[in-house]
Amino acid sequence: MLQRYAVVKVSVKTRFTCIRCGRCCSNGPNVSLTAHDICRMSKHLGVNWRELRGRYILAVVSDAYATPVLRGLEEGVCAFLKYDGGKPQCIIYEARPLRCFLYPFIPASPGRSSEMYLDTYCQGVGLGGEVEPEWSILRQYNEELKYMYGRMHFLVFHDGLEPLEALERVIDEACSQG
Ligand code: SF4
Ligand code: SF4
Repeated sequence: MLQRYAVVKVSVKTRFTCIRCGRCCSNGPNVSLTAHDICRMSKHLGVNWRELRGRYILAVVSDAYATPVLRGLEEGVCAFLKYDGGKPQCIIYEARPLRCFLYPFIPASPGRSSEMYLDTYCQGVGLGGEVEPEWSILRQYNEELKYMYGRMHFLVFHDGLEPLEALERVIDEACSQG
């Protein structure tokens, strides 16, 4: 049986072009976000990030941490996906989460900035020209994750906040950074 995920390292090229099938936006979604992702999305839409809560984003609480994720509607369609003339369209495309930006490449783990997984479930893999993952975006993603969980850790274990309260505080802080 073919493996769905392949490991991709720096300098390894992959044939890929996005054919806008919308498959990756209709399969969960289980895309985890950074606090900065949420700020960019809300800024792009011209709303306070709190207006995205529940409708577009959710938080998954596990132990002492809360992880923000994209909300999936019926059959796993991302709440930001709309159909324009029959074609799937992301309404926050320019400000889409970093994980969406990187797809079909998927971060392997927060500490690894020179290795990713390639998701062969993507319809565009094997088509078009040869590309490499955007390694600089992966580094940015890892930095943003480190910031979010680092601050949350401090707020929960030092200041005694509940995980959800800590996450909201971190998003407020990230959005105030401009
Ligand atoms: S599954 Fe691949 S080809 Fe289809 S929209 Fe997503 S990135 Fe593009
Ligand atoms: S935010 Fe946009 S790119 Fe990401 S899963 Fe949703 S519709 Fe797709």
